[in-house]
Amino acid sequence: MPTTQRRRVLLKLSGEAFGGGSLGVNPDVVQGIARQIADAAESVEIAIVVGGGNFFRGAELSQRGMERGRADYMGMLGTVMNALALQDFLEQAGAETRVQSAIQMTQVAEPYIPRRAERHLEKGRVVIFGAGAGLPYFSTDTVAAQRALEIDADQVLVAKNGVDGVYSADPKVDPEATRFEEVTYQDALVRGLKVVDSTAFSLCMDNRMPMRVFGMDGERQLTRAILGEPVGTLVRA
Ligand code: UDP
Repeated sequence: MPTTQRRRVLLKLSGEAFGGGSLGVNPDVVQGIARQIADAAESVEIAIVVGGGNFFRGAELSQRGMERGRADYMGMLGTVMNALALQDFLEQAGAETRVQSAIQMTQVAEPYIPRRAERHLEKGRVVIFGAGAGLPYFSTDTVAAQRALEIDADQVLVAKNGVDGVYSADPKVDPEATRFEEVTYQDALVRGLKVVDSTAFSLCMDNRMPMRVFGMDGERQLTRAILGEPVGTLVRA
């Protein structure tokens, strides 16, 4: 019987994780992710914010001539498709799930109701938040920080593709860059480290919400992060 004493985490999965590097959803990749999450769902309360960069990013579409607000809504709709794909594979892996959307679409998802999300978590269900904040000009990183605060999570877990933590500089640009075991939000912001967006960093800093940034590549990395193992970098206030 689940108790309210369990650790509660907010996991951020980027859209890239769903596409396996290409446009759209790669079912094999999502199945692998879902299995790792389901393995940890027995002992940890898990809420998930999904990105949508494997479909659309509003800023990119607006640079190519679209009105930004509309482009951002397209981005948000992409996150809902990822949420549904993840829900499907999580249920196949034996986890009970609920999807909550910040944009009303009641046939496919509950509306975002934080208190209800908390009840689901207490009952051992994995809660997936789709459609970001429902607001243009936001990113899903920022939404992850906000949702973590609102549902009273213990930690934000930011899963990355192609990088395994927070580095002193962008490791793709600077070969001398080194990975931090631990770094403060202040330091990350002053250095302009962009591995997570700055609004998410500052929201967590102001509210003393710890964050772990880690790479998804490698054996059971997601499961390990959810279970509280010290993978990647701890970012703290
Ligand atoms: N988006 C938005 N408001 C939100 C969350 C997302 O407008 O609250 C849009 C925005 O256009 C963004 C896209 O949805 O580019 C996909 O989200 P994001 O880029 O954060 O996904 P990720 O990079 O994590 O795959």
